[in-house]
Amino acid sequence: MKFADLHLHTQFSDGTFTPEELAGHGARLGFAALALTDHDTVEGCARMAAACAAAGIEFIPGAELTAEHDDTELHVLGYFLDTQNQKLLAEIAKFQAVRQNRIREMVARINEQGMPFEADSVFALANCRSPGRPHVARALVKAGLVASLDEAFERFLKKNRPAWVPKAKVSALEGIDLIHQAGGLAVMAHPGLNRTDEVIPALVDAGLDGIECFHTKHSTATSGRYLEIAGKFNLLVTGGSDCHGFSKGRPLIGGVKLPYEHVEKLKQAVAARHASRVTRH
Ligand SMILES: [Zn+2]
Ligand SMILES: [Zn+2]
Repeated sequence: MKFADLHLHTQFSDGTFTPEELAGHGARLGFAALALTDHDTVEGCARMAAACAAAGIEFIPGAELTAEHDDTELHVLGYFLDTQNQKLLAEIAKFQAVRQNRIREMVARINEQGMPFEADSVFALANCRSPGRPHVARALVKAGLVASLDEAFERFLKKNRPAWVPKAKVSALEGIDLIHQAGGLAVMAHPGLNRTDEVIPALVDAGLDGIECFHTKHSTATSGRYLEIAGKFNLLVTGGSDCHGFSKGRPLIGGVKLPYEHVEKLKQAVAARHASRVTRH
């Protein structure tokens, strides 16, 4: 039986693995296919593609966009993206600039708490274009200003703590369009984490292609509920571990094994989309 993990992060966002390390774990665990879904970036895809090819693993280029609908934050996964698509790259550059400004704002608020700390120390540690709160937490630990990542979040970075700054988000409907125009499939990530079922019909109307039924934090009952919703709305089914390496405890890769038949259905859907585009032109 062949399996896939379609939700993975590397050092190109807030994961700790390089693409090569991640592909190595995928090979060790016997995965037939992996997708890279770093936050608001496709930068790691070229290296991940090469590493997967070397390991004999099928690779699906992707990204995880931070989005919102009706004031609810949700994440939209894009799969089979054309990572050279100019509009996608231009929009991603905008998201990344906003992320970097958010880091500066968080650091300024930490400074207001009487803590000497510099945004450049976060950027140096993150060493990627999509820095986020975990990087701020790691830089605070490294600077000796807090004892642990948990303390960094509890004292400063959690919602409603002094250095919490809301995330900038693309509208979910724009995110779906952006993924489609880059040749990809748009999938709602970990719906069980966000409790956002009421937004699903609007996303389906906007062209949502699939829903992530299997996820590390979905119970069997939760996965079952989303499989039912996928059936009701005729959505593709995806799943993945959402592994961030060691950034959130132990590596999660291997904990979710999506049967490969779902990858085949994704590939059929993307091929049908491309064929209909060709005939329309
Ligand atoms: Zn997510
Ligand atoms: Zn994720």
